[in-house]
Amino acid sequence: MAPMSDRDIKEVLPSNFIRGIIDRNLNENLYQNKRWSGSPGTASHHADAAIDRAKIRTRFPPEPNGYLHIGHAKSIFLNFGLARDYEGACHLRFDDTNPEKEDEEYVLSIVDNVKWLGFSWKFKNEENLYYASNYFTFMYEAALSLIKSGDAYVDQQTAEEIRENRGTLTSEGKNSPFRDRSVEENLSLFEAMKAGHHPDGAMVLRAKIDMASPNINLRDPAIYRIKHAEHHRTGKEWCIYPMYTFAHPIEDALEGITHSICTLEFEDQRPFYDWLLLKLEVNQLLAAPLPKQYEFARLNLTYVVLSKRRLIELVENRYVSGWDDPRMPTLVGAKRRGYTPEGLKLFTDRIGVSKADSWIDYVTLEDSMREVLNSSCDRRVAVLDPIKLVISNYPVEQEEECFAPNHPQDESRGKRTIKLTRELWIERQDFMIEPEKKYFRLYPGNQVRLRYGYVVNCTGYESDEQGNVTTVFCEYLPDTKSGTAGADSVKVKGNIHWVSSKYAVPAQVNLYDRLFKVEQPGLKSASYLDDINDKSLTTITVQLEENLAGIKPMDQFQFERHGYFICDQETSTDNIVINRTVTLRDNWK
Ligand code: ATP
Ligand code: MG
Repeated sequence: MAPMSDRDIKEVLPSNFIRGIIDRNLNENLYQNKRWSGSPGTASHHADAAIDRAKIRTRFPPEPNGYLHIGHAKSIFLNFGLARDYEGACHLRFDDTNPEKEDEEYVLSIVDNVKWLGFSWKFKNEENLYYASNYFTFMYEAALSLIKSGDAYVDQQTAEEIRENRGTLTSEGKNSPFRDRSVEENLSLFEAMKAGHHPDGAMVLRAKIDMASPNINLRDPAIYRIKHAEHHRTGKEWCIYPMYTFAHPIEDALEGITHSICTLEFEDQRPFYDWLLLKLEVNQLLAAPLPKQYEFARLNLTYVVLSKRRLIELVENRYVSGWDDPRMPTLVGAKRRGYTPEGLKLFTDRIGVSKADSWIDYVTLEDSMREVLNSSCDRRVAVLDPIKLVISNYPVEQEEECFAPNHPQDESRGKRTIKLTRELWIERQDFMIEPEKKYFRLYPGNQVRLRYGYVVNCTGYESDEQGNVTTVFCEYLPDTKSGTAGADSVKVKGNIHWVSSKYAVPAQVNLYDRLFKVEQPGLKSASYLDDINDKSLTTITVQLEENLAGIKPMDQFQFERHGYFICDQETSTDNIVINRTVTLRDNWK
């Protein structure tokens, strides 16, 4: 049987096509002679090294120009996940070849994010954390080698002229009048570019491929430009910088990457990727096997934006409190919101890896979190919209312990005690003066169970001048305590939660809603900013059961009947701040 083409594999394994490709590559022993010296470098650097012990090498190559978002998490799970599954290595590479907008602050955050998701760039004794800016010298040499082999030239057309002469999808481009300069002339001009003799934009180095190519990316793409800018790592050492499309394949090759996985926008760049690496192999700077690029569909998530540039705008224009605002789809925001690495993993497993661009419903992400948090979180009680409940026949000084399981499906997590007293806090919604149909909770004359406590009979209520109920009165039935023989003697349909007003702990809770009002921000409006939901944050004061008095940042619980919550980093001894991660059910309208 003939080996499967990439096309066949895509069709057979739509949700897993990259694994299909790797399986086939390994079966064909594609890397059995691949040498790796333990650090990135050219052909000569690896020539005498041992065979690479990593069965495959992938990389996650963020540009440190912003904080990572949930889309990046998909790429992290994919690249690091493949390396883990195939006994390979995944490199963390900062793609910092663009001197502007890059910053060490972002580098540190990205390192944290990758670790938080549970991955490491270590393989055996290798560190595998790299900066593309460390390869500037090699990239420069690669450019020189292309000039010498007649595959690159310095173009002095204006940016405008270059654009005009590039042609269109339906018409061929025109050769630059500078295209046929001699190698010597190109070398000396490129030297002058590097030496800083020319201002930004005065000239560019271009690959010499084919101005008539149907693929516009092959019409002599620019590979080096002049930019008198300081770089966050290399300082003022360079005033010429490689273009991304030139730098990226070289970075992959130097690091011995086998599978260079990127998003679909780069599909049309693949021919240039292959052209460039092959030229550098012929020029003996690189050795086979050369890396190959594979593209997958980027994650688009409804009700948020996944683009660093837009997320920067949200922060700078103060639509949110910062990068780690829990409404932000950044990984720092997600963490502060209470989304967990396990939940993100489940989410990315569910959406799969395919070639088809699509929008994923935000609910899919929330459902994944619910599923993971349901098993990982202990239960606690919190009253979010408190009104008083007074048990008139319960003595003022009396109090007793009620026992509540920490997890209803996992007895091994034990029970906690909650104190019952005469005065309690209950939810405003658990009482109605005039019950509507099928309302089984408190109303005058009705009986409900106080969860883990007694059955009570509602006897009356009090309200303020505006008619808002302030206090509800009831009497308890002494033989009906949960966990005792008499518990089942009275049947009730309603079961409400409560906390003792004597022992309750007040806290501030942030309730989050969608950051944008529409599924695809900006699709139908002039700007995505017009679609921001200005009611995406509501802050309330709540009453917590006494066991939450010592809650610490990052502690997560299910608040019974409400959802999943996490203690915020701004919590202090006298002010507890809690964020709602997700409600128990989807109630978005
Ligand atoms: P942005 O458009 O948000 O700035 P980017 O693609 O420019 O994203 P990079 O730092 O270049 O950001 O991305 C690092 C890696 O993450 C790339 O390999 C890229 O393909 C991947 N990536 C970025 N966004 C997504 C996404 N929405 N879904 C899947 N992968 C993504
Ligand atoms: Mg980018």
